Amino acid sequence: MPGRVQTYTDPFQHALIAAAVVAPLGRRVVPTAVSVALAIDLDHAVAARSVRVRDTTALSARPRTHSLVTAAGAAALIGARRGPLHGWAAFAGLVSHFLHDAGDRAAPTPLFWPFASARQLGRRPQIIGTVALALASLAISRATAGGATSGDVDGGGDTAPPRTA
Ligand SMILES: [Zn+2]
Repeated sequence: MPGRVQTYTDPFQHALIAAAVVAPLGRRVVPTAVSVALAIDLDHAVAARSVRVRDTTALSARPRTHSLVTAAGAAALIGARRGPLHGWAAFAGLVSHFLHDAGDRAAPTPLFWPFASARQLGRRPQIIGTVALALASLAISRATAGGATSGDVDGGGDTAPPRTA
């Protein structure tokens, strides 16, 4: 059995990818993305009513929580509590996880539940989607730069003379 068991959950890969897609936003939001990307796989255990790997990987489809609806809901909740950047980090972390799940040949992933039935997308859509998430993080980082950044420590930003260099 060892070596032949295909696990549907790979915490290390999920954590790594989730960290990567929000990396442009800095270290502050990485724990948010990583923690949701790890926590969401607890639903496999709930769905299988067991934490034994043999059971959790024997599901005919991944749980419905592996859906963009979940990602949007988590983003709204976390965003309301911790701010929009963490909300985005939660969304990006979860979607990167679902894309990774949908990229393999294991159980179907209900990414578009309840609008479409569960199916796998394959590696190419996963890579495109994951890169898109990282680029969106980069765009958000650019858009929010110039606000309260760590470089703004002089405390007198309003009165400082404009830099011409
Ligand atoms: Zn998963």
